[in-house]
Amino acid sequence: MTICFGLPGKVYLVGAGPGSSKLLTLRALELLQSADVVFHDDLVSSEVVAMIPSRTAVYNVGKRCGIKKITQDEIHRRMISAARSGQTVVRLKGGDPLIFGRTGEEIRALRAARIEFEIVPGVTAATAAAAAAEITLTDRKHGSKLVLASNHRCAGRKGHTWPTDAANNATLVFYMPGRDFGPLCVELGANGVNEDTPCVLVSQAARPEQQVLRTSLRWLPTIAPLSAPSVLIIGAVAAEATGESTGNVDAGETFENLETQEATIALGEPDDVAVQ
Ligand code: SAH
Repeated sequence: MTICFGLPGKVYLVGAGPGSSKLLTLRALELLQSADVVFHDDLVSSEVVAMIPSRTAVYNVGKRCGIKKITQDEIHRRMISAARSGQTVVRLKGGDPLIFGRTGEEIRALRAARIEFEIVPGVTAATAAAAAAEITLTDRKHGSKLVLASNHRCAGRKGHTWPTDAANNATLVFYMPGRDFGPLCVELGANGVNEDTPCVLVSQAARPEQQVLRTSLRWLPTIAPLSAPSVLIIGAVAAEATGESTGNVDAGETFENLETQEATIALGEPDDVAVQ
């Protein structure tokens, strides 16, 4: 047990953004430059880690491809112990700390230990990927729902249950999309999502190696996955994405079709007017 005679330190749960140090918030940069100790995830880019002064103690506590370097409980224990000894602790996470970052568990541990903390948001992968593909995630022409989902499937864990209008009226963004898109396409198809629905896969958004690949739900299972980390955006908004296309997708043509469908609905045509 650490006995603290001075004031206890504070823990900052900070978003590092998707990769480029230019996408760090001013608050994140300020904290990285004044912290005594930084615990960061694997997803934090080397460009961001390089912004931390050499006098600071820096620990990579990430896990990659399921290989844990350190348990979540051990991360809690180390953060709490450093704060109790009066240190300023930065817990640095890729993207935004509140999106698929296990920050909820860290908040609960810090509260239980009565350690003061502050959360600093960051640019999440979904918006970085949308910027890379030059699309909006919400577009009033294509519905008004945005779903951030994880496609990470542990052994034995079932897939998602989607609302019946899933991607036909929403944009779905899959974090941790994996390498085999087949099961997801089957699941979405079974929930009524049209196989012509445009998709865009964005790898290493906001990093020098960034790649953007356009396709459709029909062709998605046939594409070679891009390097991790990547996110998969599914929905009408993806038709306007820039980037390479695969699977005989022509974004312009698909977009025209979607425009026709929109116009048909707006004019109140009968339900049996088929729009391909
Ligand atoms: N908290 C993070 C997400 C952590 S989950 C955030 O807000 O972005 C990890 C997943 O995020 C990865 O598997 C990948 O799907 C996505 N991701 C993180 N950084 C990315 C990047 N630069 N480009 C594309 N996807 C990224």
